[in-house]
Amino acid sequence: MHRLNPPLERFRVLPGQPLDLHDIPTRFDAGIPKHEGKALMHKLQKRLVELQSLLYAEGKRSLLVVMQAMDAGGKDSTLRRVFGPVDPAGCHITSFKAPTSEELAQDFLWRVHQHAPRAGYIGVFNRSHYEDVVIVSIKNLVPKAKWQHRWDHINAFEQMLTDEGTVIRKFFLHISKDYQKKRLQRRLDRPDKHWKFNVADLDERARWDDYMRVYADTMTRTSFDHAPWLVVPAERRWLRDLLILKSLVDTLEAMNPQTPEPTFDPNTITIPD
Ligand code: ATP
Ligand code: MG
Repeated sequence: MHRLNPPLERFRVLPGQPLDLHDIPTRFDAGIPKHEGKALMHKLQKRLVELQSLLYAEGKRSLLVVMQAMDAGGKDSTLRRVFGPVDPAGCHITSFKAPTSEELAQDFLWRVHQHAPRAGYIGVFNRSHYEDVVIVSIKNLVPKAKWQHRWDHINAFEQMLTDEGTVIRKFFLHISKDYQKKRLQRRLDRPDKHWKFNVADLDERARWDDYMRVYADTMTRTSFDHAPWLVVPAERRWLRDLLILKSLVDTLEAMNPQTPEPTFDPNTITIPD
C-alpha cells in the first residue's frame, strides 16, 4: 500500500459522523523525508498532467476540485503548486469573492453553477458555494430560515453534477490559529505582501472557534463517497501539496479516461502533397 494512503483515509470526513477539527493535526508527519516527498511530488505532477490530457481527449467527464480554508490558509500557493504544471487550456480556476449585488439578487447557486467544469475539464473552486453556509451563517448575512436549508441544496446540487458526469473532490486546508497569526504577520512584515493584508480578515479571525465548529458541521453534512471532504493538515506545505496531488491522481486513475476511437482508418488516408 502507498504510504500516503493511511493519512488520506484518516483525514477523510465520514458522512454523518461528528467531527471535531481539534482532533486532526494541522502539522503532520507522514514518515516521508522531505527530499523523498519532493521526488514523489514530481512523479505525481507528471501523472496529473497525463491524466488531465486524457480527460480532455475523452471529452465526456469532468473533475471539480473545491478548496476551502481560513484566511492565509494557503489556498493560492496550493493551487499554484498542484495545478501549475497542468495544461492551462484544460483547467479552469474560479475564485469566489463576496457576492456582488447582482449575484445577491439571485439564488446562492446561480453564480456557482455557471463555473462548473465542462466535459473534459478540471474545474477548481478557490472558495465556493460552501461560503454560503459558513461565513453566511456565522455573520448572519441572510436569515436563518434561508441558510438552514442550504446544506440540503448543496447536496442535491453536487449529486446532480455527479449524475451528469462530474467527479467532485473537496479539500479543507487545516491550520491552527497560531499559524494563521504567523502568516498574517508575514503579510505585514514584508512590503511585497502588504497588498495581501486585509484588515477585515481580523474580524473572521476573532470568530475562529465559530468557524471551526461550522466547518466541521458543514463537512459532516456534505461529505459523501461521491463528493468527499478531505481535511488536509496544511502547515507543512510540501506534505499538504503531496496529499492533495495523491488524492487527485488516485481519483483520475479510478476515472480511467480514454482517448476516443478514431472515426476513420488512418491507414486509408493519404495527405495530398
Ligand atoms: P486570500 O487568502 O489571499 O486573502 P481570499 O480567498 O480570502 O484570498 P479575499 O478577496 O481576501 O480572497 O476574500 C474573499 C472574501 O469573500 C472572503 O472573506 C470570503 O469569506 C468572502 N466570500 C466568498 N464567498 C462569499 C459568499 N457567498 N458570501 C459572503 N462572503 C463570501
Ligand atoms: Mg482574504
